[in-house]
Amino acid sequence: MTGNAHFYATSEDECFVQIRKLISMIPANNTTKAEMIAPKQFREEISPYFNANPKKYISALVSEDCWQATPGKVVDLVRNLGIAAGGTVMEDCRVLEACREGKYTSVLVQTHDKKYVEYRTEHFVNALGSGAGKLCDSMGIDAGLYPVRHQAFITRRLPMLGKHGTNLDMLIDRQDYKGFSAVYGQQIAYTGQIIGCASPKLDAMRIDKNLKVNTKAFLEIVSEMFSEWIPDLAGVGIQAVWAGYYTEPRYIVDPELGLFVGMRGHGFMLSQYIARMYVDKLLGRPVPEYFEKLKLNGPGLSEKAFK
Ligand SMILES: Cc1cc2nc3c(=O)[nH]c(=O)nc-3n(C[C@H](O)[C@H](O)[C@H](O)COP(=O)(O)OP(=O)(O)OC[C@H]3O[C@@H](n4cnc5c(N)ncnc54)[C@H](O)[C@@H]3O)c2cc1C
Repeated sequence: MTGNAHFYATSEDECFVQIRKLISMIPANNTTKAEMIAPKQFREEISPYFNANPKKYISALVSEDCWQATPGKVVDLVRNLGIAAGGTVMEDCRVLEACREGKYTSVLVQTHDKKYVEYRTEHFVNALGSGAGKLCDSMGIDAGLYPVRHQAFITRRLPMLGKHGTNLDMLIDRQDYKGFSAVYGQQIAYTGQIIGCASPKLDAMRIDKNLKVNTKAFLEIVSEMFSEWIPDLAGVGIQAVWAGYYTEPRYIVDPELGLFVGMRGHGFMLSQYIARMYVDKLLGRPVPEYFEKLKLNGPGLSEKAFK
């Protein structure tokens, strides 16, 4: 368990207004704890190394009991659950094309040893992440998906920077600034490294570029933001940077069409839960009303639903 601190620059910030509204709606007996703190409390409540004069912000929302998971362990668990239930995991295979014939889907797969195998199934799920759009195109489904670059960095090992000598909690700035819509990061408790990301605002316009390359703008914004928060970080070396794909523009979860795509920037956090609903829907169990909105022809869910 750990905490989060969201910084706000102005009281007109739409996110700030929403959060204020949400806090006022939390019933008194709710165990969720979130609190607005003033800049003068940042050193005490966030980090003793925090900028002593943080002019950029009017307040921060500190929420407690947030949790973080290790993706590798989660993926391993999901695979093992599948195997225990009688499933098979095939490594290093490539789905080449798929085509629907009535209630069946034929899927052509190239296997690890370069054999071509055609599967015919009543339940095919396209959950190919950044490769999903191409398969949709080959099936004549116009999903309008596109990959967007998302960049990350990790520092060298550092002493614990959080309050009471613990690791630094997740810090988040959600301003629309220099082409990014959020900068965030946290300190890994086991190694002391800070791992962070910046979410792109403009990358949809750059999809024709090589998305695997990190940008100068990314390195500049994370350096600026992290050293604004904790000035001592200005001299700290970055150990590695990398970039991966988000699939935009929206979640499309549609059991009738076999689509589980467009997981965007929250896919690790939310997709396991949504996948469970997907199975419930296939089995005829009740699903929440918003699940229907995620269909290809549905309106989707607004970005704010996740904030
Ligand atoms: C740098 C970065 C940081 C992120 N941080 C967070 C975070 O903090 N929290 C969060 O919730 N989400 C985060 N995300 C988003 C999250 O990773 C995605 O939303 C999520 O991984 C999407 O899951 P998926 O299963 O739909 O697709 P993926 O995880 O992309 O999985 C799709 C798989 O299909 C494979 N594939 C593609 N095409 C084919 C093909 N033709 N044949 C066979 N296999 C194929 C791919 O190789 C891949 O293994 C982050 C993403 C990035 C890039």
